[in-house]
Amino acid sequence: MSKLETENKILRRLLWLRHGCPSNALYGDDGELQCHNCIIDFKRISARALDKRFFELGMEKYEIRPKKKQRKKGRESRRFRFIDFSFLKKIRRTK
Ligand SMILES: [Zn+2]
Repeated sequence: MSKLETENKILRRLLWLRHGCPSNALYGDDGELQCHNCIIDFKRISARALDKRFFELGMEKYEIRPKKKQRKKGRESRRFRFIDFSFLKKIRRTK
């Protein structure tokens, strides 16, 4: 197997695993890479057909959704840092 074929196989597997469908919709026995939720055979479909299928399914599904969660986490950690910082300021004032 050439390097390109190996990489293609790995990337198809990653795409199958992480394209957003729940794991109970994925069928991966005997080297198969199928999703019963979006009816895609990730092992056999051409890249062009896959692109078309994803578009048919609705692009919003493939947008990076965890952004909202990441923002919340970021704000929380910033708040935490801010609280820590103000606490240190108060200590300095009392001295
Ligand atoms: Zn799917």
